[in-house]
Amino acid sequence: MTVAHILAEKGASVITVRPGNPLADAIHLLVENGIGALVVMDEAHTVVGIISERDIMHALATHGTSALDLPVSSQMTRKVVTCRRETTNDEVMQLMTEGRFRHMPVCESGKLVGIISIRDVIERQLAVLEAERQAMHDYINMA
Ligand code: AMP
Repeated sequence: MTVAHILAEKGASVITVRPGNPLADAIHLLVENGIGALVVMDEAHTVVGIISERDIMHALATHGTSALDLPVSSQMTRKVVTCRRETTNDEVMQLMTEGRFRHMPVCESGKLVGIISIRDVIERQLAVLEAERQAMHDYINMA
């Protein structure tokens, strides 16, 4: 199972935010879309960072409500780990575990083509495990 399978099911849409926008905008986007992270893109459509709910909680804990006016660029992670369509689910889980993050933009030829979360990966892994369990069950009952 690869990232391409996940994107085929969930689609390629990615919610993005500009680096100069205030954190308040990022919070609204996260809440309105029911997601946990936003890819930060500049005017040239280059990925310049990622900001997750965890970064926002950190900013609020440090600066209080004045954090809402801080630019996204001040709180985002700049070194974004991305994957490709061909990346396997196992590789994604390994990268997420090692990097201690739960979101991963998918890029192809330098272009953003989707985003996957740890939930997407786990859901598919559970489906695979269930299919294997069922196949084993059927095999044993056949014998
Ligand atoms: P998350 O677990 O995704 O909420 O993110 C935890 C931390 O990792 C936050 O500081 C995020 O900005 C950062 N982060 C999330 N996704 C990535 C990624 N793909 N590459 C690098 N950092 C990330």
